[in-house]
Amino acid sequence: MSQIAKLSALSLAIALSIPEVSAHPLFSGKVVSRADLLPEYDYVVVGAGTSGLTVANRLTEQKNVNVLVIEAGDLDKNEDFVTIPGLAGGAAGTKYDWNVTYTANEGLGGRKVPIPQGKIVGGSSKLNRLIFDRGSKSDYDGWESLGNKGWNFAGLLPYFKKNEKFTPPTKEIAAQYDIKNDLKNHGDKGYMQTTFSPFFWPTTKNIVKATKALGIPINDQATGNAIGGFFCPHNQDPVTVTRSSADEAYYDTAVKRQNFHVITGQQVSRIVTKKSNGAVKVTGIEFASSASAKRQSVKVKQEAIIAAGALFTPQLLQVSGIGDPALLKTINVTTVVELPAVGHNLHDHVLLAVANTLNTTLITSGSLRSNATFAAEARKQYDTEKKGPLTSPTGDFLLFLPLQTYSNATSAIASQAKAGKASASLPSDTPPEVAKGYQAQYASLNEKLVAKDSAILEIIWGDGTVILGLQHPYSRGSVKAASSSVFDAPLADVGFLRNPIDVALLREGIHFARRLVKTEGITELKPVEVAPGANVTSDADLDAFIRRSSSTLFHPAGSCKMGPKDQGGVVDSELKVYGVEGLRIVDASVMPILPAAHTMTTVYAVAEKAADIIRGSAAYKAACLE
Ligand SMILES: Cc1cc2nc3c(=O)[nH]c(=O)nc-3n(C[C@H](O)[C@H](O)[C@H](O)COP(=O)(O)OP(=O)(O)OC[C@H]3O[C@@H](n4cnc5c(N)ncnc54)[C@H](O)[C@@H]3O)c2cc1C
Repeated sequence: MSQIAKLSALSLAIALSIPEVSAHPLFSGKVVSRADLLPEYDYVVVGAGTSGLTVANRLTEQKNVNVLVIEAGDLDKNEDFVTIPGLAGGAAGTKYDWNVTYTANEGLGGRKVPIPQGKIVGGSSKLNRLIFDRGSKSDYDGWESLGNKGWNFAGLLPYFKKNEKFTPPTKEIAAQYDIKNDLKNHGDKGYMQTTFSPFFWPTTKNIVKATKALGIPINDQATGNAIGGFFCPHNQDPVTVTRSSADEAYYDTAVKRQNFHVITGQQVSRIVTKKSNGAVKVTGIEFASSASAKRQSVKVKQEAIIAAGALFTPQLLQVSGIGDPALLKTINVTTVVELPAVGHNLHDHVLLAVANTLNTTLITSGSLRSNATFAAEARKQYDTEKKGPLTSPTGDFLLFLPLQTYSNATSAIASQAKAGKASASLPSDTPPEVAKGYQAQYASLNEKLVAKDSAILEIIWGDGTVILGLQHPYSRGSVKAASSSVFDAPLADVGFLRNPIDVALLREGIHFARRLVKTEGITELKPVEVAPGANVTSDADLDAFIRRSSSTLFHPAGSCKMGPKDQGGVVDSELKVYGVEGLRIVDASVMPILPAAHTMTTVYAVAEKAADIIRGSAAYKAACLE
C-alpha cells in the first residue's frame, strides 16, 4: 500500500476514533467502521494474506459482486524491515508476526521450534525472504496423481504467469552471470513485481563456479525443470527496489473498487452454519477484536473463503465444529460436520545449516551486521541510488538436487524406505482415511527418491553457511485447536524427523555440503567448518547434530489437503470443504504435498486458480447479474 494511502488511513481512523473496529480506508477515502459494513456480503474472505487478497481482488473485478476481507492483523507502516530487500525477514518476531511455536518435537529431542506467520495485511508475503521460485513439473503432476484432476504443472502454469509481472535482470547482472530467461514462461501483466536483485554478493560467483565444477546443470526454474542450480528471482519492484507483497499487488490494485471491503484488527472466531434438510450451509462469519470483545457478525450470501494460512485455517474449522468429533469433544465444541482429516497431513521443509568460516578479502553479507561503516555506506547507496547490498535479499543462486545428484546412497535409502512402514511418518492418532491417503503419498515419495526430475534437497549458499532444505519430508504432523476459542494459539505438531528416512536424507546432505566446500570455487575462500565441526563424522554423531539443530524453512502446508475424502482430503478439487455448502479453502493448507520450492509462488498460483474456479461457478455468475 502506498505511504500516502497508509497515512490517510491512519489519520482518518484516529480522527473518527472508531470504538471497536479498527477501520480501513475504502471507497476513495471512506472508512469502513462497524456501521459501514454491509449486513451481508456475497463472499467473505478470512485473512488478508497472500492467498486471501489474491482471491478477493479477482472476485471484485465484477462490480456487482461484493466481498469483505477480514484480517486479524493491521497495516504496516512501510518500516524498513518490511520494504527493503536486504532487510527481508526482519518483520518476523515483531507485532506483524503471530509469534507461534510448533509443539515440543520428539524428533528434535523435545525442542520447540518457532514458526513465524504474518499477522498483517499481506500476511506472510510481508514477512518472507522474497525468494520467488516454482517447483518442478513432477511436483505439481504429483498432485494430480493423488486424485486432484487438473492440478498439474500445465494446469497451474497459466496462473503462475497470471500472478507475475516479470522484469529480466539488469544488463550488468545478466552479463556477469550469463542469465538467460525465456519470457514465454513468465507473466508480464500480473500484479506481482518479480525480478532479480541488481546486486549479487561477490561469493555468488564462487558457488556458481563450484556448481559447474561438480557437473551440476544450471537451469531456469520457471520452465518446470527446477532441478540443478538456478538464478532466483525475487518478488521485488525493479524501479522502487522494494518488496512486492500481496498488499502492493492485490490490495492496492483493488482498493478503489466500491465492492472491495477490508476490515483489519478483527479475528474471525467462528464460521456460522445452518443445517436444513440434512445439508449444512455457511450463513455467516463471526469475528471480534480480542478474546474478551463482543462478537460481531456478517451474513454470507454465496460463500466463505478461508485463507488464514496452514496453521490457523484448520483451527478455525475445528472451533466451528468441522473436524474430528473426538478432538471437538475434548475442546467442548459440538460437531457440525464430521471431517476427521482437518488439521492432519501438516508438513514443512526442514532446515539444517552446515556453517563454515571463510578467509577472504571479498565482501560478505555478514559485513552488514559486523561493520558499521560498511552498513552505513550500503544504506546511503540504497537510499540515494537504489543500488548495492541492500537491494539483495540474498538467495540469488539456489540448488535443488535429486538424491542421486547429492548422494551415493540412493539405493540404500530407497531400500530403507521400501522396507519401512508408512505409519512411521504419522502421529499415532491419525484417522484411517488420512493414513490411507498417506500410503499413496508414501509410494510417491519413494519414487521421488530415485527420480531425476524430483529435487530432494535444496542448497542455499550464505557466504560460508550451507543451508540444507529437505524438500520432500516423509514426516507428518497435525494442527489441533487448543480450546474452543480461536484466540488460544493452535497446537501445531509439525512432526519434524518423525520418520528416520528424513534424518538419513539430511545426513547425506551434510556429506554433500562438505564435498561442495572442498570443490574448486569454494576452496579459494578457505572455508573452515564450525558446525557441526570436522570431527563430527560418525552416523550417530551426525544424526545427533541433525536432531539438535534442525529447524523450519517457514513453509507449513497440507493441513486441509485437497484430495478424495476417503483418502483424508478436506477439500475437493474445486477447493470446497466436504460436507459444507458455501465453504472453500484457498491457502497453503490445501497443498496435498509440498513442492520442492519455497511456497509463496505456488500459493499465489493456487489462489489465482481458485479465483477462476469460483468465477466459473453458477453462484458467482448469479451474483454478477444482481
Ligand atoms: C519468515 C518467513 C519467510 C518466508 N520466506 C519465503 C520465501 O522467501 N519465499 C517463499 O516462497 N515463501 C516464503 N515463506 C512462505 C510464504 O510466505 C507462505 O507460504 C505464504 O505466504 C502463505 O500464504 P497463505 O495465504 O497461506 O497465508 P498468509 O499469507 O500467512 O495469510 C494468512 C492471513 O490470515 C490471517 N488470519 C489468520 N487467522 C485469522 C483469523 N482467525 N481471522 C482473521 N485473519 C486471520 C493472518 O493474519 C494472515 O494475514 C516464508 C514465510 C515466512 C513466515
